[in-house]
Amino acid sequence: MDYKNITVAGSGVLGSQIAFQTAFKGFDVTVYDINDEAIAKSQERMMKLKDNYMKDLQASQADVDAAYGRLTFQTDLAEAAAQADLVIEAIPEVVAIKTEFYQKLGEVAPDHTVFVTNSSTLLPSQFAEATGRPEKFLALHFANTIWINNTAEVMKHPGTDMKVFDDVIGFAKAIGMVALPLYKEQPGYILNSLLVPFLEAAELLLVKEVADVQTVDKTWMIGTGAPLGPFAILDVVGIRTAHNIVQAKAAATGREDFVKLAEMLQTEYLDKGKIGRESGEGFYKYPNPAFADPDFLKN
Ligand code: NAD
Repeated sequence: MDYKNITVAGSGVLGSQIAFQTAFKGFDVTVYDINDEAIAKSQERMMKLKDNYMKDLQASQADVDAAYGRLTFQTDLAEAAAQADLVIEAIPEVVAIKTEFYQKLGEVAPDHTVFVTNSSTLLPSQFAEATGRPEKFLALHFANTIWINNTAEVMKHPGTDMKVFDDVIGFAKAIGMVALPLYKEQPGYILNSLLVPFLEAAELLLVKEVADVQTVDKTWMIGTGAPLGPFAILDVVGIRTAHNIVQAKAAATGREDFVKLAEMLQTEYLDKGKIGRESGEGFYKYPNPAFADPDFLKN
């Protein structure tokens, strides 16, 4: 099926980006959020996105104005869903909020409407029943700064209809994404299934005092030809996020190395305002980090 009318529910950081990208690619998009204040914030975000698209993608003023013109804003869920072929959910990462949302949406959306969740850490099977249409529900997961980092992980739960899965893959491509199908549910999708253990392994080498930051990164960069080592990547992700992940693991497992690592990230980095690239310092200092020095990969 060709989706024509798209509704994006939740117009925060990701929802605004998804809505603008979808409109930029020619679809009519209804943006739904809970109140006028949230909608006003989203409209501000859209203005910034227009600038980003012109700067980063060399889009013309006419292109971004046309994209904005294809957006409609709505605070009534039944109105927002009435014409939708596809509803993309990007509301807070809170199970109770999402469950209630899907129950309400399932009641007001037309029977043919497909629902997808952009959730980063929750699995679609957790909400499949609440939607009232498990076969027309799956995950469509975007990355932040969608117009540049254009991945779309498309993930089934066991009850998703294969035809719906294929249609959503087609839609992801139609809005300029590289579609990455996942045939089974996987916490963390593909990227974080690879990245989280990789970054943890690097952090454990540091906390166990096996090797220092720059040696670990140098090893990875020379050994694999990668442009960034794990600590440079951690600076991009942000040390706050890394700390949250490590702390959760420490709490869940009680493992001493993770407890020590969480403490180290807190006292040596976060408490000192070293949050990563966004604060100008993390494992490296920006804008001229040591790993970008041409001599970094030499002895
Ligand atoms: P956000 O906090 O920026 O935005 C959430 C929006 O949802 C807000 O505008 C809020 O008003 C609205 N909202 C709250 N309750 C609602 C409801 N019941 N119905 C409709 N809208 C409601 O959050 P975000 O960072 O955009 O994340 C949204 C989702 O996208 C989460 O599931 C998150 O895991 C996922 N995600 C986020 C990122 C990221 O980098 N921020 C990346 C990939 C996926």
